Amino acid sequence: MFTCANAWAVTPGTHWDYSGEAGPQNWAKLTPEFHSCAGQNQSPVNLDGFIEAELEPLKVSYKAGATEVMNNGHTVQVAYDPGSTLTLDGKTFQLIQFHFHMPSENQIKGLSYPLEGHLVHSDEQGNLAVLAVMFREGERNATLASLWDTPPAEGQKQAVSPHLNIRDMLPADLDYYRFNGSLTTPPCSEGVRWLVLKQPIVASHTQIEALTKSVGHANNRPLQPLNARAILQ
Ligand SMILES: [Zn+2]
Repeated sequence: MFTCANAWAVTPGTHWDYSGEAGPQNWAKLTPEFHSCAGQNQSPVNLDGFIEAELEPLKVSYKAGATEVMNNGHTVQVAYDPGSTLTLDGKTFQLIQFHFHMPSENQIKGLSYPLEGHLVHSDEQGNLAVLAVMFREGERNATLASLWDTPPAEGQKQAVSPHLNIRDMLPADLDYYRFNGSLTTPPCSEGVRWLVLKQPIVASHTQIEALTKSVGHANNRPLQPLNARAILQ
């Protein structure tokens, strides 16, 4: 066992990667703390076979609050100040951070996207809710453009405009799919509420390429079996 070499590992832990010996197929075996990676309710998944449900309209109340962006070697992640919330199941979840996967981790009806954003929220008990948004390639994304000229290199961080409101990056239509899943990175903790927006947004080829280049490799965990779960819409 050895620890991540990069200075940005917030809590030094067991090294894991997206390929090789420490790759996804071995995550559960790397340390007992990662045993959930072999669980039955893992993310990401291919969203299909939808069950019609009366999903409540998405209640988000986001305000400006991006603080800094870091590249931890696994992803490019933007920290967010407290005060931006998602209300779900009668609970209030605070937006903590958002980050990116290239290509997308989840798929929608077998379709992969070049980029997926994950907005990670936590309630007071530490329960997590992730709001995912797919990007397709197209015009330049103004929100991404305001976050950086160039995303930080591995182990680096940089300031971002505190005026950035992540709501501006999301589509007008917040219709979503919902399922139960996990963190897509070790320790792969389960019990995560997943919401995936149906409407993709757009970023330019150059922007997607810059993110991929800054991480240096694909950072999507392979699809996980649905097992007994349903995807609600
Ligand atoms: Zn993620």
